Amino acid sequence: MRHPLPRQGADWPDLKDRMADYATGDVRWRDGKTAVYVFNAGPDVEQVQKEAYALFQSENGLGPAAFPSLKRMEDEVVGFGLSLLHGPDEAGGVMTSGGTDSITMAVKAARDFARKARGVAGPLNIVLPRSAHPAFDKACALMEIEVRRTPLKDYLADPAAMGDAADPSTVMIVGSAPNFPYGLIDPIGALSDLALARDLWLHVDACVGGYIAPFVRMNGGDVPAFDFELPGVRSISADLHKYGYCAKGASTVFFRSAELQKFMTFDFRDWPGGRMVTPTLAGTRPGGAISAAWAVMNFLGVEGYRAKHGRVTAARQAIAAGVEALGFRVLGRPQLGILAFTRDDVDCVALWAKLRERGWFTGVTTEPKSLHLMLSPVHDAVADAYVADVAWALGAVSGPVATEARYS
Ligand SMILES: *Cc1c(COP(=O)(O)O)cnc(C)c1O
Repeated sequence: MRHPLPRQGADWPDLKDRMADYATGDVRWRDGKTAVYVFNAGPDVEQVQKEAYALFQSENGLGPAAFPSLKRMEDEVVGFGLSLLHGPDEAGGVMTSGGTDSITMAVKAARDFARKARGVAGPLNIVLPRSAHPAFDKACALMEIEVRRTPLKDYLADPAAMGDAADPSTVMIVGSAPNFPYGLIDPIGALSDLALARDLWLHVDACVGGYIAPFVRMNGGDVPAFDFELPGVRSISADLHKYGYCAKGASTVFFRSAELQKFMTFDFRDWPGGRMVTPTLAGTRPGGAISAAWAVMNFLGVEGYRAKHGRVTAARQAIAAGVEALGFRVLGRPQLGILAFTRDDVDCVALWAKLRERGWFTGVTTEPKSLHLMLSPVHDAVADAYVADVAWALGAVSGPVATEARYS
C-alpha cells in the first residue's frame, strides 16, 4: 500500500516513537545474536560514530576547497590504511562509499590502464576465484567486461587455474583476504608471483579483512602476507564500515602508485557547469562518513583495534572449538573474523532456521551447505551460549522436528 506524503508535518518526538515501533521487527543486534550485516564493537564506538557523523553530516566531500576539514580527514584516514597495508611511499588511495564502490573503481582503473597504457583492444575479461564477491560481477556488468570464475582448491583460489584462465585481454586477477563465504585468505603470495610473471594487475579484495588482518598479526596470529608487501599487488579494497568499525558508507581503495590511481579519477569539463573531478563513483560525498571514520580510527588507535580484534579472535576460537566438539567440520583454517562450519549428516540450512527461533541471525554458505558467522567483539561474551544453542538445534533438527524446518 502506498502512503502519500503527509500534508502536515509531525512532531519529532512522535516520529522517534514511530521509528522505534517500526524497528520492533528488526534483529536485536546489540544483544550480540546477529553475526551478519552489523559490526558491533560496543557502545563506546557506536557513540563516537554517531556524534562524529552528525558533526559533518551536511558537509560535502565533493568540495575539498570548501571543506578542507574533510579533505584533511580523508587524507589522514587513507594514510592510516596505507601504513597498515604496507603501502610504498608513492602509493595512493581514496575513501569510497563501500566495498562495491571500491571494487568498481579498482576495476575501472585496471580497465583504463589496459586500454590506455597497454593498448589492449577488443573485449576484456577479469579472472576471479569462485569465492570472490559479486561486486566484481556488478562492476563488470556495468563495464561490459567478461568475468571468468575459476574453481577453488580446498576452498581457496587456485593460482594454476587462474593462470590458465588469464590471457592478453585480462585486465585484472583477484584474490580475497579473506573471501566472504569461508573467511579464508587466498594464496595471495602465489597470485602475486603469477601477476609479476605475466604482467597482470592483481587486486586484493581485503574488504572484510583489511582492517582486521594487520592487528591479528600484531596480536601474534600467523597471517600470511597479503597486501602491498607483495610486489605483484597493484590495488586493494578495504572497508572501513566492516572491521574498521566505522559508520556505514565508508571504504577505502588503494593503488600501488599515484600513476595507477590516475586511471580511476574521472575528470570532465565538456558541459556548462565547469570542470568536475570525481575520484569515485559518487558525486556528492557524505561528510559524515568521512568524519565518523576519522574519529573512530583515532578513538581506537592501534591498541584499541588490537584489543577489539583480540576479542573477535577469542570468539572465533571458542566457537570453532565448540562446534568441532559437536562433530562439525570448520571449512579451511579461518584466521580472521569469519568462519563457516558444516556436518555432512545434518541439513545446515535447517539448523540455521532452527537457530533463528532462539534469536540468532547469522549467514549460510551454500557450497557445501554450512553455517556462516561474521563475528564482532561482542560475540566473545555470547560464544558459549551460541554453541549451547547449536547443540540444542542439532537435537531438534535431527529429531522429529526436522520435517518442519524451513529454509527461510
Ligand atoms: C562486504 C564485501 C564486499 C562488498 O562491500 P560492500 O561494502 O557491501 O559493498 C566485497 N568483498 C568482500 C570480500 C566483502 O566481504
